[in-house]
Amino acid sequence: MRQRLLPKAGFSVSELGLGCEHLQGKDEGLIREVVGAALDGGINILDLFMSEPNVRTNIGRALGNRRDRVAVQGHIGSAWLDGQYTRTRDLEQCRRFFDDLLRRLNTEYMDIGMIHFVDDLQDWRAIEKGPVMEYAQSLKASGRIRATGMSSHNAQVALEAVRSGLIDVLMFSINPAYDLLHETTLIDDLFKGETYQAQTLRGVNPVRAELYRSCEASGVGITVMKTLGAGALLEAKSSPFGTALTVPQLARYALDRPGVASVLVGCTSPEQVENYLRYETLDEASLDYSSALGSTAAYSLAGRCMYCNHCLPCPARIDIAQVNKYLDLAEQQAQPVASVLDHYRLLEAHAGDCLACGLCEERCPFQVPVRQRMQQAKALFGL
Ligand code: SF4
Ligand code: SF4
Repeated sequence: MRQRLLPKAGFSVSELGLGCEHLQGKDEGLIREVVGAALDGGINILDLFMSEPNVRTNIGRALGNRRDRVAVQGHIGSAWLDGQYTRTRDLEQCRRFFDDLLRRLNTEYMDIGMIHFVDDLQDWRAIEKGPVMEYAQSLKASGRIRATGMSSHNAQVALEAVRSGLIDVLMFSINPAYDLLHETTLIDDLFKGETYQAQTLRGVNPVRAELYRSCEASGVGITVMKTLGAGALLEAKSSPFGTALTVPQLARYALDRPGVASVLVGCTSPEQVENYLRYETLDEASLDYSSALGSTAAYSLAGRCMYCNHCLPCPARIDIAQVNKYLDLAEQQAQPVASVLDHYRLLEAHAGDCLACGLCEERCPFQVPVRQRMQQAKALFGL
């Protein structure tokens, strides 16, 4: 299983991770099988936002003596009150249910302490300067969490949190449909077909694109939720693109966004885990999402690089997606930051090597003016 670094957290995780929300209500035996299949297959990150006591206990049992080999995202602000899940900012409840999580997982620490579900700007601003953030920082100082995180579906809120410097990891909802939507679209509307008719959509929303680039530039690793758009993207009739995408295509789409370290997909049987793990063995053609997205007239993604590398091979051996990614990243800054330039220099071939043959433009499903982009990259990076 390929690993990716969470730069500010300081540790690496498997590019495929497990979301556990669908395990709530399942029996202990099945949870053992699903978690066991994931760990056996090389998955070493899982998200556990649920506050329901039994699923916590059963996941703890399923991890058993392999707990220390897995990075667990445990949430701060997910409570179980009156027999129901509740999001809370009450400090006493945050403490109580975080302690409950550690106890039920039979562990002394969480790898990532995720401040849970922050989708409102006022909520973030209260958290940022208030007791919940102080609590998260005290957990980190005492070693009870290794990294501070935040989960969100709102790109504007997430961008503010990333820029604050207070979080090491961001859990964010990423898929090609949500990427089209306005950055503040509410979670309940992300799933509705009408949302796509109601908004004027053209290409990836710039605030979302900026969020991903900011994460990469500042070392905030992204772990992805809603990779499959709650399953809507797997069916032509429910996908806003009018075409069905596959689980591997959607995982690849998310993993191609800047800053992304791991995608977290929920599985409810060992067979589903096995199927999900096939991602690691599939060829490029099977992972390619560009033909499905590039052919949709309704929501034009034309002109912007989607980092899919469908334009290869390049006779000059340029990794075109990577050059475009670094160019996007540098253009977001006032000037190319040293770290972007350092990474760019390490590429095998550079924009300056471009032969202007135009083959890439014939193959690109998104009509990216690659030759022009190469000239821009050469001018900006100097090679
Ligand atoms: S230039 Fe086109 S084909 Fe190449 S990586 Fe970008 S979007 Fe994909
Ligand atoms: S135009 Fe440049 S980047 Fe595109 S395939 Fe030719 S050499 Fe490669």
